[in-house]
Amino acid sequence: MRVVIIGAGVMGTATALELARRGVRDIVVLERAVPGAEASSAAAGMLAAQMESKNEAERATFVTARDGYAAWAEELRASSGVDVGYRRCGALELAMNDESLEALRTRVASDRAAGLRAELVDLGQAREIEPELTAKVAGAAWFADEAQVDPPQLLRALLAAVVRAGVVLRSGVTVSSIVEEAGRCVGVEVTGVPDGREAIRADAVILAAGSWSSLVPGVPSTLPLVRPVRGQLLLLEERPPRVSRILASHGTYVVPRGDGRVICGSTMEDVGHRREVTAAGVQKILAGSIDVAPCLGMAELSRVWCNFRPHAEGGPQIGPSPLAGLFLATGHHRNGILLAKATADLVADAVVDR
Ligand SMILES: Cc1cc2nc3c(=O)[nH]c(=O)nc-3n(C[C@H](O)[C@H](O)[C@H](O)COP(=O)(O)OP(=O)(O)OC[C@H]3O[C@@H](n4cnc5c(N)ncnc54)[C@H](O)[C@@H]3O)c2cc1C
Repeated sequence: MRVVIIGAGVMGTATALELARRGVRDIVVLERAVPGAEASSAAAGMLAAQMESKNEAERATFVTARDGYAAWAEELRASSGVDVGYRRCGALELAMNDESLEALRTRVASDRAAGLRAELVDLGQAREIEPELTAKVAGAAWFADEAQVDPPQLLRALLAAVVRAGVVLRSGVTVSSIVEEAGRCVGVEVTGVPDGREAIRADAVILAAGSWSSLVPGVPSTLPLVRPVRGQLLLLEERPPRVSRILASHGTYVVPRGDGRVICGSTMEDVGHRREVTAAGVQKILAGSIDVAPCLGMAELSRVWCNFRPHAEGGPQIGPSPLAGLFLATGHHRNGILLAKATADLVADAVVDR
């Protein structure tokens, strides 16, 4: 059985690895540019199941994904030799006024009723958890089980592991069309090869092209549109390291790696694929970050970047598509790092049982 995967981001590589683990021998991942270098390496790497979920069903899915990560990180270390930087560092979601504090109180009660660790804390308690926290907060929710990984390391691990597992990884090759015969997807056509074009037959094709998924010619028009939502991030470097917990407040988050590197984000912008870090974006992120942890004002501004979250109306698209032979692993928006292994499992189930 040959499986072709379009895109070498976290979705494409995690799915390739899972298929290889289940004994699929002929897997080809096609990447038009640099493997792993788009949204998946740009992400902040929060595994923020409780903070990010919007309803109980989503929370259950996210928590299962988060709680499975420690084991996956170990598996990846064993199969690739790369440490993905998994840390269960906990997260404080901050309330700057009484109204937000009430909203947090409701969320904490709901999480506790579901058996999850969550606590509403006052300023004093919050500062015991994170001494660098601003004194301006009205209170916070403490989610002790929220975690993080280092996305560039995660992608290095996945790429090393897939190659060791015998997956063929072709980069610099763009899928120019999904090929359909008699109502079934039978492969893809690619450009960027010496002969100009090449047809690659496959028993199953997996669309994992991130925010470019709807742009691949031949994708069924009945599928929900995947559109890019730009996010800007910046890296601060503290010497010595001071902030140690994930801090989140009204669209700003601070993700300390534990070694002095602190990822600060982000923006949510509907600007297509404009690859620009803007003055206003950096200003917003810096102001928000220094507001929640004033010591960050003394950190070095080391790097800025942006990339594109793949947003699909109705949530991630995972598994079989309306076109037989074509499978989906896309549209994960803000939580693709969190959901990578869970998605790989579901897509592998669908492909292997097809
Ligand atoms: C600023 C920012 C912060 C984020 N923070 C978090 C976070 O803290 N936690 C979390 O869980 N998630 C986070 N995310 C979301 C997460 O990064 C994404 O959901 C996830 O990386 C999407 O992975 P992907 O493999 O679908 O897409 P990508 O990583 O974008 O990979 C898609 C790949 O497909 C390739 N491709 C596209 N078209 C073609 C074609 N025609 N032929 C061949 N190859 C093609 C691209 O070159 C690319 O390499 C964040 C995202 C951003 C932008």
